[in-house]
Amino acid sequence: MERTFIAVKPDGVQRSITNKIIAKFEEKGFKLSGVKLVNADLELLTEHYYEHKDKPFFPDIIKFMTSGPILAMCWEGKDVVKQGRKLLGATNPLNADLGTIRGDYGIDMGRNVCHGSDSVESAERELKIWFSEGEIVSYKKDDEAWLY
Ligand code: ADP
Ligand code: MG
Repeated sequence: MERTFIAVKPDGVQRSITNKIIAKFEEKGFKLSGVKLVNADLELLTEHYYEHKDKPFFPDIIKFMTSGPILAMCWEGKDVVKQGRKLLGATNPLNADLGTIRGDYGIDMGRNVCHGSDSVESAERELKIWFSEGEIVSYKKDDEAWLY
């Protein structure tokens, strides 16, 4: 089954809305297969955001993402990468539709509450950066028989 890396950024943890993000994915029907709170360091974040490392806003991302713990998660299910991006909404909360996480809970581009992998390849890459093998758990859930 497809997997994606979803994270609640430090703003979401500090604002006590991790439950809202988890609820969106659970209620949609996805399965949580890995979760932990991480104080990310520069090395981890540089690897995670390597595609942005030469952008002018990169130092701001690093400063923000190291400002507090991040809730790192692995979610599983059919088309979960694309569906996850839809649940998150557009990168800039100004353009994110109401009903999406960034549309409902964000205001500022730099503090947009959550991260979600943008492709299946990115998801596999990011999950390897944030989780070790034993931290992602395979298990069966009864509701899957009704979802698929
Ligand atoms: P996404 O998180 O939707 O995949 P990107 O990969 O383009 O978006 O950017 C990574 C993160 O960097 C964004 O979520 C956002 O918090 C931040 N970011 C992107 N572009 C800008 C920008 N122009 N100014 C400030 N922060 C930005
Ligand atoms: Mg991205």
